[in-house]
Amino acid sequence: SDVGSQKERVVTVEEWLQKWEMGNIGFHKEQRHPLLQKYLDVLLNGRSGLRIFFPLCGKAVEMKWLADMGHSVVGVEVSEQAVKEFFSEYSLPYCEEPVPEISGAKMFQSTSGNISLYCCSIYDLSSSIVGKFDGVWDRGALVAVNPCDRQSYASLMINLVEKNSSYLLVTVSYDPNKHKGPPFYVPESEIKSLFG
Ligand code: SAH
Repeated sequence: SDVGSQKERVVTVEEWLQKWEMGNIGFHKEQRHPLLQKYLDVLLNGRSGLRIFFPLCGKAVEMKWLADMGHSVVGVEVSEQAVKEFFSEYSLPYCEEPVPEISGAKMFQSTSGNISLYCCSIYDLSSSIVGKFDGVWDRGALVAVNPCDRQSYASLMINLVEKNSSYLLVTVSYDPNKHKGPPFYVPESEIKSLFG
């Protein structure tokens, strides 16, 4: 298929913030993603107490699920509203602090310490700020990234993972001429060239 029709499309941060304000968040699901349940063993690979990263996390319910299993969850989300809704919907007490390395960024951390959500653009993160991860749950993330930013996104993600990590990626398959996205259509050939 021709993905050229989506190549120039850009969704700005302001538009994402507006989606949250207006409640246009059809991407948010109340139920845990069936593919995470199906491939949980692949993600964990017999390990416990992992550091798991949620890029472009929204208020994904799977963060609470994995944290309750004893893992340490780190997410990044540009909408402060989304981050606050996550904690309030689970009635989780949290604290809020600035991130010295990133101007304007805040980190929201559950009082229990096992969920840390960075409120900033993912492109401002680096492994010197958030460390490296044993696992990644990428749903609504690569496919939400503007096509022109995919390369920087993939390079960053490769940088944020440990050698023996597992990266679960969910994409969607459809005719890109019929829908402008997001979610964008990212063909498997492109995933191979982005992640190797
Ligand atoms: N992964 C989540 C949300 C998917 S929607 C889920 O499964 O429900 C994509 C999310 O990315 C939105 O909440 C949007 O606000 C956020 N976002 C968009 N651009 C971003 C950026 N550059 N940095 C961080 N978050 C971003």
